Amino acid sequence: MKRKVLITGAAGFIGSRLAEHLQTLGFEVVGCDIYNFRNLFFDVGDSNHLFVQKLRCDRIAQFLHKNQIQYHAVDLSDYAAVTKLFSNVKPDAVVHLAAQAGVRHSVKAPMDFVKSNLNGFANVLDACRNHAIEDFLYASSSSVYGARTTAPFSEKDRCDTPESFYAATKIANELMAQSYYSQYKRTSLGMRFFTVYGPWGRPDMAPMLFAQKMRQRQPIQLFGNGVLKRDFTFVADTVYAIAQLLERGASRHNADVVNIGHSHPIQVTEFVATLSQCLNIEPIVELAPMQISDVPLTCASDEKLVQLIGEWPHTSLKDGLTAMTQWLEKWQMA
Ligand code: NAD
Repeated sequence: MKRKVLITGAAGFIGSRLAEHLQTLGFEVVGCDIYNFRNLFFDVGDSNHLFVQKLRCDRIAQFLHKNQIQYHAVDLSDYAAVTKLFSNVKPDAVVHLAAQAGVRHSVKAPMDFVKSNLNGFANVLDACRNHAIEDFLYASSSSVYGARTTAPFSEKDRCDTPESFYAATKIANELMAQSYYSQYKRTSLGMRFFTVYGPWGRPDMAPMLFAQKMRQRQPIQLFGNGVLKRDFTFVADTVYAIAQLLERGASRHNADVVNIGHSHPIQVTEFVATLSQCLNIEPIVELAPMQISDVPLTCASDEKLVQLIGEWPHTSLKDGLTAMTQWLEKWQMA
């Protein structure tokens, strides 16, 4: 019998891609998201809101509807709604990706993060306990590592000095999951993602934000004077790793965490040069100081991930950005 997996945040960047991928692997996939085709402006709080909502709507059409994947519009911060969702869907496995994302936005509006990232996470965690879900994987973030500069970041490193409220909510999620293991022996796996980018990506993150600005011949701001380094991870590589972790039952042992990143940090100036080649547009660069919540470096050790799933794909930045810019051009023309 096909295993049924519930993906939360299925209208999102990673969730929509994961839904399609898991279906091709033979899972029965059900997606849910707060997005209900009407709730414009619910969580974005900046001038990108229309763009974000169009993306969510188009991702559902492209990755869910086209593949006849069931979709539920649910606000996961509502406990009764989550209870009903789990009773209706009866999943065997849950990949919880829904969250208010965005480090910078959490400086402007920390309270936007409480509902989805704390209440929503607790509700999903508790529903997994009530339904004795065997596989519970959830999104954490490289931001839990704070401002450290000793690389690569290992899952054994201490993570108790968040630079942003967003990071604090992700650390809190890992601790909540740990407490459910201590109290109830409910197992889980937190996946620490490292700057995921690619087609259908998030417009608040540098790859899409810079590409959009460069196409509109607008200046781009490089914070930290362009010397910040990020471990960019292509979305298809991320989705491959999540699916492998799910298929291999990696979340069934205890309350664990794992990095999904490649130990290959790239300086933002190099990233912009590659993006400029892909777009064939000369960037207008403004150097700016580091912002509150910025960290100088992200760099994942993927030793633990490789132990769990074996070697995993590493799409080069050039190939990944080429795919992203080609998609962006086609999508915006449509
Ligand atoms: P995304 O914003 O594209 O997707 C998140 C989805 O969650 C959105 O579609 C949103 O509508 C939904 N959502 C938010 N609150 C909800 C609620 N209360 N109920 C139901 N749905 C709700 O983000 P993404 O880039 O796909 O990220 C997925 C997960 O990975 C998030 O938890 C994010 O914090 C984490 N993460 C992402 C990255 C990255 O580089 N993309 C890096 C680190 C961690």
